[in-house]
Amino acid sequence: MDSGPAVQSALLRKGDLNFAAKRSMLLKLIRAAQPITRTAIAERLKIDKSTVTENVKPLIDRGILREDVIESESGRPRVLSFAASAGYFIGVNLGVRHSQIGVTNLVGEVSDEDEFETPKDFRRALQLVDERIKSIRLAHSGEQLRGVGVSVPGMADASRRELVYAPNLNWRGVAIAEHLQKSAEAPIVIENDSTAAAMFESRVKIGESRESSASNFILVRSGTGIGVGMVIGGEVYRGTGAGRGIAGEFGHMTIVAGGKSCVCGNRGCWEQYASAAATASLYLGDRPLRPGQTLPRFVEIVAKAENGEVRSRRTLERIGDYLGIGIANVIMGTGVPRVIISGRLVFGWKFIAGPLNDAIRRSIINNIEGWSVEPGSPSGSALGGALEVAVEEYLNTV
Ligand SMILES: [Zn+2]
Repeated sequence: MDSGPAVQSALLRKGDLNFAAKRSMLLKLIRAAQPITRTAIAERLKIDKSTVTENVKPLIDRGILREDVIESESGRPRVLSFAASAGYFIGVNLGVRHSQIGVTNLVGEVSDEDEFETPKDFRRALQLVDERIKSIRLAHSGEQLRGVGVSVPGMADASRRELVYAPNLNWRGVAIAEHLQKSAEAPIVIENDSTAAAMFESRVKIGESRESSASNFILVRSGTGIGVGMVIGGEVYRGTGAGRGIAGEFGHMTIVAGGKSCVCGNRGCWEQYASAAATASLYLGDRPLRPGQTLPRFVEIVAKAENGEVRSRRTLERIGDYLGIGIANVIMGTGVPRVIISGRLVFGWKFIAGPLNDAIRRSIINNIEGWSVEPGSPSGSALGGALEVAVEEYLNTV
């Protein structure tokens, strides 16, 4: 066992239980705050500078990180950043209605963004992704594709190569990684979209120098459905044993007994009352659509509320109330009192926040201090999360 002055630097040694989590935090911080000095990293992560050096040196030697001298008022510090030449990553967010695909590198530049309507048939959807991966690789020939991250609106299996079940798409047991392997010829990781969004937010928070909120939080992603991602001790939590991959399926917890029927086969699921998609049917009074009538988009309802329309305001307030009821349940079940909202719902935050917080105050959670619910970035719930998955997987293996 290490003792004495070696204890601090041992924090990041292999074999230490926290090695992987700490090292991934260090690399996340560099990505979020690059260019950054070794001293700043050491201060932010409360580790000593030699530990930083020990961990970054092999990556500098391999051309993944670079160190440059910059001119600043306080002298000529040496700063660390990732090398743009270290390869690129493809992200694919398979959404219930729309899917996004794009490219990033370790510097954080995003390019080649494209969107398409998600075909109902998974074979057709994967064929479209295949074609796009091929054309991206052609455009980036001469560069190394380091990995592909695919975020899905459902559960991923323990190996993160298959989609187990996506209720809103009615896709089951789709071997996504295997399908895409031939066109990608690089590691492929499948991740639940809420977990992917949580990974994205975790890095954003580290960049905002809020390590405490980056380490432990729940992310509630509300779009067509509702999913929950969990970050505990700086790492995402996916469940254990046979439940690995299922953690966070709170969208299908029952909040109204005998309530509205849900695509999962049950009734009264949370996402039928508090998702961005539920907002549209609530706005229409839950009446069936007339021929030729289409559901209003969430942003359209928000625009009406901005213009002072009472019905849209009331609708968003009710969504906020239902969202708060569910969030209080999630906090009770996990013991994590810090919540970030992600997805389209963020656009209506000013109408939703009040009733949401009121609903949590009515619950037992009001007896604890320091709970909070805040809006996150809308991009994390789409392409941003998928790209994050690809990059994190690569950095965990270098
Ligand atoms: Zn359900």
